Amino acid sequence: MNISPKEAVFNKIKEYGRIIIFRHKRPDGDAVGSTKGLREILRESYPEKEILLINNDFSDYLSFLGGEDDPRDDEFFKDALAIVIDTATVERISNPQYALCREVIKIDHHINNEPYGDIMWVEEKRSSASEMIADFYLTFNSELKINKEAAKYIYTGMITDSGRFRFASTSGETLRIAGMLLDIGIDIDTIHANLYMREFHTLKFQAYVYNQLKITENGVVYLHVTREMQDMFSLSYEDASASVSYMESIKNSLIWLAFIDNEDGSTRVRLRSRFVTINSIAEKYHGGGHACASGATVYSEEEMASLIADADAHLKEYKSENEGWL
Ligand code: AMP
Repeated sequence: MNISPKEAVFNKIKEYGRIIIFRHKRPDGDAVGSTKGLREILRESYPEKEILLINNDFSDYLSFLGGEDDPRDDEFFKDALAIVIDTATVERISNPQYALCREVIKIDHHINNEPYGDIMWVEEKRSSASEMIADFYLTFNSELKINKEAAKYIYTGMITDSGRFRFASTSGETLRIAGMLLDIGIDIDTIHANLYMREFHTLKFQAYVYNQLKITENGVVYLHVTREMQDMFSLSYEDASASVSYMESIKNSLIWLAFIDNEDGSTRVRLRSRFVTINSIAEKYHGGGHACASGATVYSEEEMASLIADADAHLKEYKSENEGWL
C-alpha cells in the first residue's frame, strides 16, 4: 500500500517509545518553534512516550520560548527515533548524536538538495517548517492533541520565517493555519514584543549601518559587519546577523547582502532578494537555501568581492529580462 511521507512519519512516531527531536545550528524562530511545537504536541498526545529535544546550541534571542532538554550520553540515543526538522543538510544539524538513533526522519521545507534519513517529508513550498508541524497536527487530529504552548511555538516559527506573512511563500493555507492557532487563544502581543522590541544600542547600530551601506551599479545593496563594529556596539552575533533586515525595503535593490565576520576569520553571508532567485549564488559560495533567502560563507576579501560581483551580474540579467519589479 502506498502511503504519503506524512503518514509514514505518523506511523513511525506511533512505533517508538523514545523520540528525540533535532534542528539546525544557530537556530532561528522556525527551528525553535517547529521542534518545540512538535515536542509539545507529541507530549500532549502520548504522555506515555519519552519525547525530547536535545541540541548543542541555544538562541538568546528566542530564550523567551524556554529551554530544551539536557544532554544525554550516546547510549541513550540507540533505541530512539530521530526527527530532524528545518535542516536541509546533515552538516547543519546541531547535535551529531542524531546519527546514533535507530531511525531518522527528515521534516523540512528547504530545497531537498541533500536527501537524508529513512523517511523524508519535504515540502519546499511551505512558508515554514512550523507550518508543516501545524499541518501534521491538523491531518491527524483525531489522534493528536494540541495546546496553547504548542500553538505559541508554532505561531512564532510561522511569523519569523514568513516575515510576518509578507514573503511570497505565504499561502492561503498559511493564513488558515495561523487562524487555527489564534483560535486556540495565544497571546500574540507578547510574542510580538519578545520578537521585535530592540535594545537601545541596537538602534544606534542601525543608524550607523545606514551610513555604511554600499550599492553596486545594478542595485545590490550590501553591508560588512566587521569584528570591530561588533565590538564597538557590543553586538551579539545575533544582533549583527539581524542587520540583513535593515536593507530589505530599498527601491531598485532586489538583492541585498549582509557579510558578518565570524570569530574564526571566515565571514557568514546572508543573502536576501525580492523577485530574483539567489540560492544559486549561495551554492557557489559554500551555502544554499531558499529562492529569496539563502546563506553562504566566504573566506577572504577576494571571495567577498567575487560574490558581490556575481550578485550584481545576476541582478543585471534579471532586470534586463523582466519587468514589473520595484
Ligand atoms: P540565513 O541568512 O543564514 O538565515 O540563511 C537563510 C536561509 O538559507 C535559511 O533558511 C537557511 O536554512 C539557509 N542556509 C543558510 N546557510 C546555509 C548553508 N550553508 N547551506 C544551506 N542552506 C543554508
